[in-house]
Amino acid sequence: MISYEKIFENNAAWIAEKKSTDATFFEKLAKEQNPDYLYIGCSDSRVTAEDMMGASPGEVFVHRNIGNLVVSIDLNVMSVINYAVRNLKVKNIIVCGHYNCGGVKAAMTQEDMGILNPWLRNIRDVFRLHRNELQAITDPKQQFDRLVELNVREQCINVIKTAVVQKHYMSSGFPVVHGWVLDIRSGKLIDLHIDFEKELKGIQEIYKLI
Ligand SMILES: [Zn+2]
Repeated sequence: MISYEKIFENNAAWIAEKKSTDATFFEKLAKEQNPDYLYIGCSDSRVTAEDMMGASPGEVFVHRNIGNLVVSIDLNVMSVINYAVRNLKVKNIIVCGHYNCGGVKAAMTQEDMGILNPWLRNIRDVFRLHRNELQAITDPKQQFDRLVELNVREQCINVIKTAVVQKHYMSSGFPVVHGWVLDIRSGKLIDLHIDFEKELKGIQEIYKLI
């Protein structure tokens, strides 16, 4: 485990490394941000957005919470989406889940988890929506993996339900919403190939806001 002191030593080394390749790196960084991506992922310490994407500071606007959830009454995630689309004009919104997600695992467990109950209930709702498919899977590990994927898919749909995404997509063709899963056992990033146009059309039959 990394020691507290080591973090500041690492920071000094990071500054030196950045400056060695670009002397004005921090001057440019301080001016503004212009990221093309909004990344919504899990808070899990093993799933670091920029590392696995090979992205640099300034390239990805990041929001993380337990289970990578997009909840319509969560002011935090809704503010992030609105700011990213309206002000930063991101081209892509990514919802990224990961196998072996503790949040998803907890939602599959029969236990009172206090304040986590209402949060994790959103994942239980995903299970209920897809119960026929999930209950047909007899291998618990495969069922767990599939719930991780379906949760990402449903959170992508929750992003598409927002007025700001519908409005900006209609007028500019952006942002496009993508669903990813990190296979934490191999490090591989899997694109679930969410058909954004198709999902948007389906969603707008009921959730059309503009
Ligand atoms: Zn997780």
